[in-house]
Amino acid sequence: MINVFQPELRERELAAVAEVFDSNWVGKGSRTAEFEAAFAGHLGVAAERVMSVNSCTEGLFIAAALSGAGPGDEVVLPTVSFVGAGNAVASLGATPVFCDVDPRTLNPTLDDVTAVVTPRTKAMILLHYGGHPGAVAEIAEFCRERGIFLIEDAACAVASTVDGRACGVFGDVGVWSFDAMKIVVAGDGGMLTARDPDLVARARKLAYFGLEQFSGFSQAKQYDTRWWEFQVSSFSRRSIMNDILSAIGLVQLDRLAEFVSRRGAITARYDRALADVDGLRLPPPLPAGHSSSHYLYWVQMDPAIRDGVAHDLYERGVYTTFRYAALHQVAAYGSRARLPKAERAVAETLCLPLHQSLSEEDVDQVTAELRAAIHRRSPDLAGRAR
Ligand SMILES: *Cc1c(COP(=O)(O)O)cnc(C)c1O
Repeated sequence: MINVFQPELRERELAAVAEVFDSNWVGKGSRTAEFEAAFAGHLGVAAERVMSVNSCTEGLFIAAALSGAGPGDEVVLPTVSFVGAGNAVASLGATPVFCDVDPRTLNPTLDDVTAVVTPRTKAMILLHYGGHPGAVAEIAEFCRERGIFLIEDAACAVASTVDGRACGVFGDVGVWSFDAMKIVVAGDGGMLTARDPDLVARARKLAYFGLEQFSGFSQAKQYDTRWWEFQVSSFSRRSIMNDILSAIGLVQLDRLAEFVSRRGAITARYDRALADVDGLRLPPPLPAGHSSSHYLYWVQMDPAIRDGVAHDLYERGVYTTFRYAALHQVAAYGSRARLPKAERAVAETLCLPLHQSLSEEDVDQVTAELRAAIHRRSPDLAGRAR
């Protein structure tokens, strides 16, 4: 089976884990501090502004709490969003308000966002679909002017930039993921950055039970301090990283440029091989000044054949999927919105295999099977000679 997502973990990652085992310190420690500093360097922000978390979802829950949104407040997010973003909003008792997206990029435009903003809009959670930055710069400026707290879910955008500036640092808080299906894979884990150092300080407490101070003998410094006592400032969870994951993440971060370049080459190969397929639309080109992490490669076709094409490909050893099912159509969020552009996009889009371990032969097999499946499934094409 050609996987749709797949990590590339090799000897270097294994050796880094072995070193952590030998150190006898597998919890949050020096490797995690190194990973945070390296990630800050990658983003081009001060190390103090970056904090690791044990998943991007935990990062989203912390970011949502930092926004101050609660009952009576609205939080805007594109309906094509990760389920954890919707849950983070709903968990605070705030109302998730879903906006439409551009049907080709699956990112919201500034107009899509402004269409749903009300005086009750407290915050917004934006992602970068497939790694394409979208209108993040314009939307960030709009949020700043309106005093709307902007959270960037940069899970798809670990190496994406706009005019050289990293996605994830445009808003008040940005979060990233290193789960098994992302580009940088540590097994799990994530990062959080905030524009304001006070927010980072609050995030650190939220990530560790709401403890006012990190206890432990080394922090206590004075022999007459009881280092096992503590104060609690919020009833929060334990969302911290560990050195095993961080050791893997450090190696993967070092390989990120190589990964993204490989993904860019695969994207270009798909673009070339699929350009002439009748009835197939490819991802639109990136605007000038934008660079993508190439997290997803998505194609669009007649909704009447999309599911059949996905099944045919699966039968022939090619796994495809769609990210991210529209949240306004998920009953639990209680949305009554009609979002026609997004509804069309989620019915006609399919994400093809894209990961750094795909060979050119794999890509050629995917494109050949996709061509054949579309041909087979399209009533108006099936009669015609190939
Ligand atoms: C994967 C993903 C997440 C969640 O990441 P975890 O680390 O698995 O919690 C959040 N947002 C987006 C857009 C994602 O793709």
